Amino acid sequence: MTVSVIDASPHPSYPPDMEESREKRIGTSLSNERAFRTKQAIEAIYSPRFRSWSEVSSLSKAVRERLEAEIPWNTLSNVAVLSSTRKDAWKALFETPDGNRIESVLMRNRRGQFTVCVSTQVGCAMKCVFCATGKPGLTRNLSCDEIVDQFRFLRDMAADANLDGEITNIVFMGMGEPLANYVAVREALRIFTGPLGIGMTRITVSTAGLLSGLDRILSDPLWPPVRIAISLHAADEAVRKKIMPSTVPGFIDSLVAWSQKYAEAFPEKRRHLTLEYLLLSGVNDSTQDIRKLVDLARRFGRVRINLISYNTTDSGFMGSDPDTVRRCKDTLEAAGIIVTIRKSQGGDIAAACGQLAGKNHSQTS
Ligand code: SF4
Repeated sequence: MTVSVIDASPHPSYPPDMEESREKRIGTSLSNERAFRTKQAIEAIYSPRFRSWSEVSSLSKAVRERLEAEIPWNTLSNVAVLSSTRKDAWKALFETPDGNRIESVLMRNRRGQFTVCVSTQVGCAMKCVFCATGKPGLTRNLSCDEIVDQFRFLRDMAADANLDGEITNIVFMGMGEPLANYVAVREALRIFTGPLGIGMTRITVSTAGLLSGLDRILSDPLWPPVRIAISLHAADEAVRKKIMPSTVPGFIDSLVAWSQKYAEAFPEKRRHLTLEYLLLSGVNDSTQDIRKLVDLARRFGRVRINLISYNTTDSGFMGSDPDTVRRCKDTLEAAGIIVTIRKSQGGDIAAACGQLAGKNHSQTS
């Protein structure tokens, strides 16, 4: 399998004092206490009932004070929360302990359920030309705790604001390439599907197609079998290379070969792959482009396609017009392919990834 140049490059990691997970640090901090205290403290930090160590009354005052001094309740400081005018999307801007800015989104669907979209890196090395996050490149990976804490903050915010409905889904579609931060993402998946109680098939990890990471999933017994989405955005490799420079020679064929191994490893119907396709006017939305997409989808076999309308950034790209979006959907459906149009939510709060973190806070709050 081809390995991209980006796979091989070192990924800046988080600062040394954040290398150890919060769960381990809780264990160290409470090493003089009876073992069940550590379990209680870890359960408390993931529980929706508490907002700080001081509220965890099952722990003694001394233990609470020690934890408060040594283990921050949330690794991230919230800088701003913006709400869409339709009240269907909320975007949170956070600052990490070393002063970087990242963002996450809470979205409500028509059934009244919520999805949280998390970031996995500060910036991104993939440099997709239509994406605000990719522009400045990669600063560093986020730690597992920083990924999980985006969810914890938005869950608590939704509860405190009395937003009706439950958070049922998580998508790894925020800033960064999740598979380039493989171990932290895998650990975050363990926490999301374990103590935070989100179902495996309700979580989607979306990748720009990092082939080494995709390959690793297939043979990793610790990887929870969550859903995988591939940001394809063009069925023609030359077109894809222009908009996604991380595309390596032979990418499409390698991806098809990988998808066959994926289908063998995860034969259940509900583990289908999703191909994400951002419709960009005049770039990948011609009749010929969509015909190529149909041919490629047939090579994949068990696949669904999400057509995505583009949140305009200052990238110079325009989203396809509604008639073109409909024509693309009709063509795919006529070919027997399951397709959905992902409606843009929160356009008025710059909800495409990296659009808010890339701005000065004073412009957005
Ligand atoms: S679209 Fe995703 S993979 Fe591409 S640069 Fe942006 S964050 Fe990175």
